[in-house]
Amino acid sequence: MRALVCHAPEDLRLDRWEPEQPGPGQLGIRVAYGGICGSDLHYFQHGGFGTVRIKEPMVLGHEVAGMVESVGAGVTQWRVGQRVAISPSRPCGQCRFCQLGQHNHCLDMRFYGSAMRFPHIQGAFRESLVVEAWQAHEVATGVSLAEAALAEPLSVGLHAIQRAGPVFGKQVLVTGCGPIGSLLIGALRRAGASRIVAVDLADFPLEVARKMGADVTINLASDPDGLAPFAVDKGQFDAMFEASGSDKALRAGLDVVAPRGVIVAVGFGGEISLPLNALVAREIDLRGTFRFHSEFAVAVRFINQRLIDGRPVISHCMKFDRAMDAFRLASDKRQAMKVQIDFGVELQETA
Ligand code: ZN
Repeated sequence: MRALVCHAPEDLRLDRWEPEQPGPGQLGIRVAYGGICGSDLHYFQHGGFGTVRIKEPMVLGHEVAGMVESVGAGVTQWRVGQRVAISPSRPCGQCRFCQLGQHNHCLDMRFYGSAMRFPHIQGAFRESLVVEAWQAHEVATGVSLAEAALAEPLSVGLHAIQRAGPVFGKQVLVTGCGPIGSLLIGALRRAGASRIVAVDLADFPLEVARKMGADVTINLASDPDGLAPFAVDKGQFDAMFEASGSDKALRAGLDVVAPRGVIVAVGFGGEISLPLNALVAREIDLRGTFRFHSEFAVAVRFINQRLIDGRPVISHCMKFDRAMDAFRLASDKRQAMKVQIDFGVELQETA
């Protein structure tokens, strides 16, 4: 079988990879679609991010959906041919944080396609993949496996909302409307936010944000003062989600988030400086959010029932053997949102 392997920055190859057989409690999955995520792009473009670097060839990818093609011993709830979304979150279940229910902080996490530990955890962009049966979530009839592959980035948005606290009836700002920001907007709508203002530096992501439920969209490149009206009376937003990783966006939030509001940092940024006085005097909570765990099942349910329709977020789909082109396209934020790789099981899916 073939896998998409990152050897070094800009060095991505379709390599032969040893297929595995499912053991007890496991499933063999024929991967159908895989979405390219920001972290995959960081490995592709720079060989990593921050202190995380690729030190050995690593299969990329963690946003996948597919079909069950083999069933390991003792697995009774799955059969060959079922369509599934795969959670890439594989915590140990034993450590202090798993015991606390904070699985995303697991001390022994084996999240797909991650160079955070060595040997690296190999990813899911490969023709077939062995998973634990509990990683699989059934996809409803009528929902495509491409949509199902959005469950992972949607889970990130759902967890970000958990970190913010209740958003029902609240005014919310989302900065950065890439796939995560836009799916987060869909989730905020579902969670009952009363007004969602979305900002970005390009028009295309803002169009998608509108389709996902944003009430107001502002292009801060063409309208640099677009957020000024929201700064009145110490700020209009109860919560802000920073999904661009830009220090400027985080800084702008301090002027428009109301006292005792919450800023959730979703995007990874570098080192930044903030006027701490503004944070202190307005009693603003600045919170991080990282991955997800239990939210994955909820995300699949929302997608299955079309309570959140992520289809506007998928901008391109390219065949597996054009994966390098797909990565280059995904790097261009002005024309690409979620770029997915099609592993070529479409015919089986419609059959
Ligand atoms: Zn653990």
